[in-house]
Parts: sequence; C-alpha cells; structure tokens
Amino acid sequence: MSVIPDLLAANGRYAERFDKEELPAAPRRRVAILTCMDARLVPSRFLGLEEGDAHVICNAGGRATDDALRSLIISYRLLGTREFLVIHHTDCGAMSVDNEELWERLRRETGADASGIDFLPFRDLEASVREDVAAIRDSPLIPLTIPVRGFVYEVETGRLREVG
Ligand SMILES: [Zn+2]
Repeated sequence: MSVIPDLLAANGRYAERFDKEELPAAPRRRVAILTCMDARLVPSRFLGLEEGDAHVICNAGGRATDDALRSLIISYRLLGTREFLVIHHTDCGAMSVDNEELWERLRRETGADASGIDFLPFRDLEASVREDVAAIRDSPLIPLTIPVRGFVYEVETGRLREVG
C-alpha cells in the first residue's frame, strides 16, 4: 500500500495555505546544514527554520562526500551562505554496518558487486563529526573564513551538543 496518495493530499492542503511565493532562492539566514537522512532528524523543526531560511543537505550519515561538498560549494559561491553546520546523531544506522558486511549482503541479494562503493560507516560518532568538519575546512574551494561547526543530535533528547 503506497503512502504517496496521503503525501499528495497533504501537499494539497499545504498549497491551499501557501503564501511564500516571494521568497528568494538565497537562504535568508545564510546557513547550510549537512546532516543525516535519518527520519528522526527534521532540521527545520529542531533548529526552528522556516521556508527560505537555510540549505539542508542530507545523506546517509551526514557525511562530507564529494556530492555534499558540491552542494556546499554551490551554497556558498552561488547562494551566499556564510556558516556551515555538520550534524551527525546518536543511534545512526551508519554506526551499525561496515563496508564488508554491506558488500556481502548486496552480493547475496542482488548478485552485483558493490565493492567499489564506500558506504562511509563509522564507529566513533564524535570522530566522524570532526572528520567531516575537517573535510569541509580542507576544501580549497571553501574559504577558511566560513565557520564550520560540528554537532551531535541526540535522538533520545532532541538536543544538539557541539563537538569541539
Ligand atoms: Zn544517521
């Protein structure tokens, strides 16, 4: 049973009340957030953001992949963001897998070889945040003047704590 009809109905209700047609594409609060796609994390809710406020880039683990960097570079260069946040979280699925297990599972289930894909799992939550903050800071395409701050979101409390 598809959930899509419910989503479309919700969108219809949203569009009926829609009054944000004047918003510019450049984020008003000039901030970009890189975080995990985990369904429990809704940055607009836990950071008090509205439409038009910020860029939110999500992937599995909230990792600073080439594609996340691509988005951050566009965010800064073309759309004027001036601060970045990296937010990983407790109980992340990326902490409960490793590449070898995933490659083996995919080989078993699909017959295909996924060993060319690094799924970027991690064991140490704070270390993974520091690593991704460093990857962004080390990009020659992102200026050193941009603050890049790392956080852990606690799914148990809804609270962010900074990783120094
Ligand atoms: Zn996660």
